[in-house]
Amino acid sequence: MTVVVLLGAPGAGKGTQAELLAERLGMPHVATGDLFRAAVRDGSPIGLEARRFMERGQLVPDDITIRMLLDRLDQQDATNGAILDGFPRNGAQATALDDALRERGDRVDLAVNIEVPVDELIRRMSGRWVCTDAGHVYNESTNPPRVPGVCDIDGSPLIQREDDRADTIRARLDLPLASLREVIDHYARAGVLRAVNGLQPIEAVADDVLAVVAGEPKRTDA
Ligand SMILES: [Zn+2]
Repeated sequence: MTVVVLLGAPGAGKGTQAELLAERLGMPHVATGDLFRAAVRDGSPIGLEARRFMERGQLVPDDITIRMLLDRLDQQDATNGAILDGFPRNGAQATALDDALRERGDRVDLAVNIEVPVDELIRRMSGRWVCTDAGHVYNESTNPPRVPGVCDIDGSPLIQREDDRADTIRARLDLPLASLREVIDHYARAGVLRAVNGLQPIEAVADDVLAVVAGEPKRTDA
């Protein structure tokens, strides 16, 4: 089986790319968040275990997450492999996943990092403005108002919420980016890291990811 780990910072478009890649390769997109929700919904023993932590607002321990992942990899549609999205999130998890896969004779075959510079991540995530009268939502890049700072519909002033401000987003990215760096370094040492340029349009990124997975790396060096 081919196990592909898709990596990218928040805002890099990782989820979208995982969906596209899964569709094109005919392999399941295994997102950790979906696994948790499915396990809890199905009331499986491991789902009940995970729920105990989630209900207390705690992180699900790595060993439970990994057992869920391995169960998922055992399902029929994952015979040829799977695309992992959302795990591992740090170096310790990457090591634990390696160990668990090795026990069953598997490995992470490829880790594909969708590279997007921090400033661009911030630009993508911080362009949200809402109008003060009715909460109409605008985005500087994808859906700008006709007149900057004014709602097209009711003419009320647009404001940016604290959460959507560039400095807030930059601070919020520090931790995930540091963790992502650990994971990237882990797979670089293992010799399975590839990078694609995440600044391109979605379809072009998907083409590059597919080319990398198909063994025709078009590298933009990490
Ligand atoms: Zn409005």
